[in-house]
Amino acid sequence: MVRLNRENRSAFLKVKCPDCENEQIVFEKASTVVECSVCGRLLAEPRGGKADIKAEILAVLE
Ligand SMILES: [Zn+2]
Repeated sequence: MVRLNRENRSAFLKVKCPDCENEQIVFEKASTVVECSVCGRLLAEPRGGKADIKAEILAVLE
């Protein structure tokens, strides 16, 4: 069973680009726009706190 209890912790997210399936690491609280390193698609947008992740999240790395 997966338990998500990381309210006050920052994590890195392993995400997969929906366009080219490139996998890369995105900081959960990214303060700048994150683009796919292969095709340039927008993967995450800063939202003041946690970033708005636009890609599929494969794993949470703490
Ligand atoms: Zn891509």
